Amino acid sequence: MTPVNAYAAQSAATPLAPFNFERRDVGVNDVQIEILYCGVCHSDIHQARNEWGGSIFPMVPGHEIVGRITQIGNDVKNFTVGELAGVGCFVDSCRVCPSCLANQEQYCDTGMIATYNGRDKEGNPTYGGYSTQIVVDEKYTLHIAESLPIEGVAPLLCAGITTYSPLRYWNIGKKHKVAIVGLGGLGHMGVKFAASFGADVTVLSTSKSKEQDALNLGAHRFAVTTNPETMKSLQGKFDFILNTVSAPHEYNDYLNLLALNGTMVVVGVPSQTSVAGAFNLISKRRSLAGSLIGGIKETQEMLDYCAEHNIVSDVEVIKASEINEAYERMLKADVRYRFVIDIDSLK
Ligand code: NAP
Ligand code: ZN
Ligand code: ZN
Repeated sequence: MTPVNAYAAQSAATPLAPFNFERRDVGVNDVQIEILYCGVCHSDIHQARNEWGGSIFPMVPGHEIVGRITQIGNDVKNFTVGELAGVGCFVDSCRVCPSCLANQEQYCDTGMIATYNGRDKEGNPTYGGYSTQIVVDEKYTLHIAESLPIEGVAPLLCAGITTYSPLRYWNIGKKHKVAIVGLGGLGHMGVKFAASFGADVTVLSTSKSKEQDALNLGAHRFAVTTNPETMKSLQGKFDFILNTVSAPHEYNDYLNLLALNGTMVVVGVPSQTSVAGAFNLISKRRSLAGSLIGGIKETQEMLDYCAEHNIVSDVEVIKASEINEAYERMLKADVRYRFVIDIDSLK
C-alpha cells in the first residue's frame, strides 16, 4: 500500500479538505500513475453534495486524470514507466457483458466501476483524482500524447469524451445545424468538436458575457436563452441539440427549437427531472435521447483526434486548496471553461 495525499468531502454538507489514504499495491495488470493534473467536473459537485443520492463518504472526487506512469505490473503490455497516461470516469467493469464486449464499458450491464464514489470488485470505495497517485488496470488506462499541454488534456477524459461520443454516434457533420446548450466544461468541448466536424454551431447560453468566447471557441452564432423573443425566433431551427445544462430546467423550451426529425441529446444531469411534452415531440417527429461518457476505445480515439487536430480544453489551473471556491464559481456558471487542479499543490 502507498500513502496518498488528497482532498476529500467528509459529508454532503462539508467543504472539501485535506485527506490521506492508501492506494493498493501495483497488481500484475496495473499501472501506477503519479497524477499531474485533474479536471473539475460538475459531476464532482453533484456527487460531493449527494445530489444524485447514494454518495459514499469520505469522497475523493476527480475523473479527469492525467499523470505519468511510475510503476507497472509484470503482465502489463501496453504501457511503460515514464509514459504519460490518463484515467477517465471508470476504472473497471464486468468485461463480459454485451456492452463491455462491444467496447462500451460505460453501459456495462452490472455497472462500470466508477473512478470515485464507486466500489471496486472487493467492495472497497474508489477514490478519484484529487490525489497524488492512482493505480489502475492497464485496460482502463489511456495513452496521452506528449505534444499537447497536459493541463488542457485532463478535461478531455470526461468533458471531452462526453461531448465527442454523441456527436459521433449521431454522425454530426457538415450538413447539420447544431446547438450546444450551456457553455461550461462540457459545452465548450461540444462547441470545439461540433465545429471541428464541420457543423454549423450555435451556443445557447444564459450568460451574455460568454458571446465572444463562444465565437472564439468555434461557434458561428450565439443566443441568450433568457430572452423569450430570441427563443421564439429560434423555434424549429436546429437538427441536433446537445444539452449540457447542470441545473434544473425545462426540456420543452429546447425541444421546440428542433427542426423536423431533430434530436436533443441530454448529457447534463440536473438533480431534478424534467418532463418532455408529447406535443413537443410529435409535432415534428422529434427525438429526446441521452448519452453517457464513452468507452475506453472511443476515448482513445477522441484523445488521438485531439492530438491530431490540436484540440484541448480551455482551463483555469487552480491549487487543490482553491477547490471549494471553484465549486461556488461553477454553480454561478463562472468558469472559463474548466477548472483543473495542479496536483503539485497536494505534494
Ligand atoms: P459546468 O461547467 O458547470 O457547465 C454547466 C453550464 O450549464 C453552465 O456553465 C451554464 O452555461 C449552464 N447552466 C447553468 N445553470 C443553468 C440554468 N439554470 N439554465 C440553463 N443553463 C444553465 O458543468 P459541466 O461540468 O459541463 O457538466 C454539465 C452537466 O453534465 C452536469 O450535470 C454534469 O453532471 C453532467 N455530466 C454528464 C456526463 C455524462 O456522461 N452524461 C458527463 C459529465 C458531466 P451558460 O452560462 O452558458 O448558460
Ligand atoms: Zn465528469
Ligand atoms: Zn459489462
